[in-house]
Amino acid sequence: MASLQVTGLRKEFDRGEIVAVDDVDLEVQDGEFVTVVGPSGCGKTTTLRMIAGLEKPTDGSIYLDGKDITSQSARERDIAMVFQNYALYPHKTVYQNMAFGLRMSTDLTKSEREEKVQWAAEMMDIEELLEDKPDELSGGQKQRVALGRAIVREPKLFLFDEPLSNLDAKLRTTMRAEIQRLQDELGITSVYVTHDQEEAMTMGDKIVILRDGELQQIGAPTSVYDKPANAFVGGFVGSPSMNFLDVYARTSGDSLVLTDDESFRYALSPEYAADVNVQDGQRVQMGVRPEDIYTADPGEDGVETTVDVLEPVGSDNYLYLSIRDEFIARVNADVKPTVGERIEITFDESKIRLFDPETGESLLHHAVEEEPPAPEA
Ligand code: ATP
Repeated sequence: MASLQVTGLRKEFDRGEIVAVDDVDLEVQDGEFVTVVGPSGCGKTTTLRMIAGLEKPTDGSIYLDGKDITSQSARERDIAMVFQNYALYPHKTVYQNMAFGLRMSTDLTKSEREEKVQWAAEMMDIEELLEDKPDELSGGQKQRVALGRAIVREPKLFLFDEPLSNLDAKLRTTMRAEIQRLQDELGITSVYVTHDQEEAMTMGDKIVILRDGELQQIGAPTSVYDKPANAFVGGFVGSPSMNFLDVYARTSGDSLVLTDDESFRYALSPEYAADVNVQDGQRVQMGVRPEDIYTADPGEDGVETTVDVLEPVGSDNYLYLSIRDEFIARVNADVKPTVGERIEITFDESKIRLFDPETGESLLHHAVEEEPPAPEA
C-alpha cells in the first residue's frame, strides 16, 4: 500500500497545441479509493497514463509513497492498471495471463506463482476459467480476469481506466460492488477514472473533477454535491442536474431577494444573506437541485409557475416547470399536479447555491470544504 502525490502535472500534445492536463495537483492517501471524473476529453486518461508511466509528463512530478517516480518506466513502478478493453493476451489461457506479470517482474518460484494465481482466482471467483482462452469468456468474465491479473501482483497502486464501460448496466452494478469489495479487502490505494458521475460518486472515498485538463474540485462525494466549488461542478454531479437561473440579488433590509425582475422572486433570510459575497443589484446564477424544490403550502409565499410535464419515476415525480428553458423539481410521488396547472413552488433555502455568472465560482463563504480525513488504516 502507498500514498500517491501528483504536483503540477501537465501534458501537452502536438507541440503545445493541445494541453490535455494543465497543472493538476492531487493527493491520494494510503488505502484510499479516489475517482476521477469529467466530460469526454477533460484529461482523465492522460492523467492516469502519466501516473502509470505510459505517458511522459511535460511538467510536474509524481510521488509514490514519498518517492519521486516521475522518471521511472512503467515496468519499474509498482502499479497495476485495469483497462476498459481488458488488454488480455488472446493466445494465453486465463492462468497464463494472470501468471505472466509475476514471471516477468518477480523472482517467485513456479509453485509460489501457482499459489498466488490460485489466490487471486478465488478472490475473483474465476477458478473454473483458468484453462480457458479470453475469446471463450464473456465481457464480465474478461474483466474479472483483468482484475485478477492486477491483484495477483499485489501492487502498491491500482489504476482503473473506465473498466466497466463495456459491460451492460446490470453487470456494471455487480462489478462496481465487486471492485469495492476487493479494494476493502486488499486496502490497495486506487485511482479510478470514469465519465459516469454516478459511478464516481458511489465508488469514491474522494472524487476529483476535471474539466479541459484543469482540476475543478476534490472532496468527499457528499461535500462536492452539497458545496460545489463552481457552477460546472454543480451541474456535473447529480441527476437530474442542478437547475440554474440567472437572477439579480437585491438587498431588502437584512435579507436578499433573488429576482429576474419579471415572474421570479424569492427572498432569502438574513442568515443566508450573511453567508454570501453578493452586492445589491449584482447578477448571480442561482443553482438549486431538483430534490430541494417543494410545492408551497397554502398561504406560503412561493414562486408561481406552470407544470409543463409530469414524469413519474416510481418513488418520485419529476415536474418540468416553465421557469426558463428547463427547470426540474423532484417531488414525492403523491404530488401529482396536472399538466398546465399553475402551482407555487418554494425551496430549501439552505440548499440554494449562488455562483458568479462570469467565472462560475461559488459565491458562498466557506464553499469548498477541507479535504476529508484519510480512511482508517
Ligand atoms: P474520454 O472520456 O473521452 O476518454 P479523457 O478525459 O480521458 O476523455 P484524454 O483521453 O486524457 O481525455 O484526452 C485529453 C485531451 O488530450 C483530448 O483533447 C485529446 O484529444 C487529447 N489527446 C489525448 N491523447 C493524445 C495524443 N496522443 N495526441 C494528441 N492529443 C491527444
